[in-house]
Amino acid sequence: MSNEVIWDKLNEECGIFGVYGHPDAPQLSYYGIHSLQHRGQESAGICAADGKQFKYHRGMGLVTEAFGNNELEQIDGHLAIGHVRYTTAGNRKLEDAQPLIFKYSAGNLALAHNGNIVNAKQIKHQLERQGSIFQTTSDTEVIAHLIARSGYERIEDAARESLRMIKGAYALLIMTENKLIAALDPNGLRPLSIGTIGDGYVLSSETCAFDVIGAEYLREVQPGELVIIDEHGIHSERISGPTPRAICSFEYIYFARPDSDIDQINVHQARKQLGRQLALEAPVEADVVTGVPDSSISAAIGYAEATGIPYELGLIKNRYVGRTFIQPSQELRAQGVRMKLSVVRKVVEGKRVVMIDDSIVRGTTCNRIVRMLREAGAKEVHVRISSPPVKNPCFYGIDTSDREGLIAAQKTLDQMCEYIGADSLAFLSVEGLVEGIGRDDLNPNRGHCLACFTGQYPTEIYEDADDQYASLV
Ligand code: SF4
Repeated sequence: MSNEVIWDKLNEECGIFGVYGHPDAPQLSYYGIHSLQHRGQESAGICAADGKQFKYHRGMGLVTEAFGNNELEQIDGHLAIGHVRYTTAGNRKLEDAQPLIFKYSAGNLALAHNGNIVNAKQIKHQLERQGSIFQTTSDTEVIAHLIARSGYERIEDAARESLRMIKGAYALLIMTENKLIAALDPNGLRPLSIGTIGDGYVLSSETCAFDVIGAEYLREVQPGELVIIDEHGIHSERISGPTPRAICSFEYIYFARPDSDIDQINVHQARKQLGRQLALEAPVEADVVTGVPDSSISAAIGYAEATGIPYELGLIKNRYVGRTFIQPSQELRAQGVRMKLSVVRKVVEGKRVVMIDDSIVRGTTCNRIVRMLREAGAKEVHVRISSPPVKNPCFYGIDTSDREGLIAAQKTLDQMCEYIGADSLAFLSVEGLVEGIGRDDLNPNRGHCLACFTGQYPTEIYEDADDQYASLV
């Protein structure tokens, strides 16, 4: 039983970070991926180049574990990419840790990918029939094979033509011995920002990593854009024509760090605004507002400000519960939540408590937290969720269950409220979510992906690629 089930949340797949034109590129990458650790804890890796050759290391676990034996000292170069991984596609094996490294006719290639390719199985079948042999179970390897077989000499041409065959979500860094290429899928589902450091450039899934290394934010990589950084500087090409952005709304709700700006909107401020919006839509008479740490605290502050009910630290997170915390039985799994969270009894005792959480996936964690609040003496517990009900699976690299595992796909609001044991339950509306994030965007859904709430996916999806392939051959 993994920690993810004890702590019932959606999980981000990966974080990527790249540097071009800095003598400490591997060290900066180390600090960069360390700042992105919340996006993936299964494996970490860095590949660097000095214009001639690759030096790299990948390991399992947290960044500090993967680089626990001075491996970083062996890596040098002025160009580097780094990756942290949480597995949604493929296995939890070192072979699948990224950056993935390949040799092909035009030289060496390293890839770091955040997202999920929805037609990976189809392309893989096709490539295997044409003789390709895959080394990993990661769908990212499909991109490497397409590049290797493209016949183009310039890596940017090979990458552009390969990515035109790919559907789904990708924020991608591709590195050769002397070039760094960044690519974002035509819908811009995942975030990717460009910064500068000295005369060099940095790329990161989130801007929080720029602050850590002292880089300046420059701009976002645009949907369908290929950014090439080499000895001639930085320039841009198009993978696709102009396409509407559909950035993952869960980046704002839960995944990203509150000190990051996603597409120039600060995540903490967006979450606070979601809390304010929730207060407008679902007010309740209560004595105290508390948020499930860490991701729901900003929304709880917003809810408290809008309602005038005092915000209190009613729940405390224990930061030292390891990610491999294992509990075999249902009984002990309940204990797992207690190991991660504690209630501040004096704050909730005898009080009507509003508990803000950012989302409900299966409902199990929420049920346990409500129970803990009651056991600590809360008179009433009103649960308010700062996102709409998650009713549909994500195909873009977020670890949602199938529909059967999603409580909101199976139960009515009243049934959910009963299941979690709350006095009342309310979710933010889809309109409230879009309004709260406040993106100034004329595209459909104001530039958000809302598919896990609405079932309207911004790309084609291939729910069973094997079947689809069978019908194609
Ligand atoms: S389906 Fe949901 S989790 Fe997946 S990319 Fe869209 S908004 Fe994000």
